[in-house]
Amino acid sequence: MKKSGNLIVISGPSGVGKSTLVKRAMAELPDLQFSVSCTTRTPREGEEHGKAYYFLSREEFAEKLAAGEFLEHAEVFRNCYGTLKSEVLNRIRRGEEVLLDIDVQGAKQIRQAAENDPEIRNAAQFILIAPPSLDVIRQRLAGRNSETPEQLELRLAAAAGELRNYRIYDYMVVNGDLDTAAVELIAVLKAMRLRTANIQEELFV
Ligand code: 5GP
Repeated sequence: MKKSGNLIVISGPSGVGKSTLVKRAMAELPDLQFSVSCTTRTPREGEEHGKAYYFLSREEFAEKLAAGEFLEHAEVFRNCYGTLKSEVLNRIRRGEEVLLDIDVQGAKQIRQAAENDPEIRNAAQFILIAPPSLDVIRQRLAGRNSETPEQLELRLAAAAGELRNYRIYDYMVVNGDLDTAAVELIAVLKAMRLRTANIQEELFV
């Protein structure tokens, strides 16, 4: 059966457990391809260039932006992040599945791009990973001990802002219990593969 691809946008505030859930989903669904974003932030331990991110200088990022290479881009916690068109567009045209881990500003831009581009509109699906409450995020971030009190407040305010936009997403997976959330996320991703909108030929004729 000839099928078009899926462009899966996943957002969620820091401390929600999004990376762990995305890793579990990618392990379960090997055909799912991760869209490697560009960022100007410095790599964390264990993060490889070209795998976690393309780590760029501000100048390199600005050049790509000026050349129109980004499908969306945003500033998050004082660093620039952007999704390259080259990571996404040809893949969905080939009927492949691409997962974007981007923030709410990026998700809104993909929604806008979808309005003008039927290919993106047909492919784009939006999932929000949410905590059971804002307090849970506060506890998780404080427990991580990686932020100063000021950074923690900044991240919490950003989390609340992001979560208030939940209606721009098609699905919301609440990460209270990690195993339950992983099962739910994988179920949503599997269901997306069965959408009739992806079928690119006339069947049963
Ligand atoms: P981190 O620096 O912790 O890896 O990511 C910080 C935030 O930036 C996360 O919410 C992540 O989803 C978001 N992010 C990562 N890549 C992109 C991107 O290409 N575009 C946008 N808009 N956000 C991104």
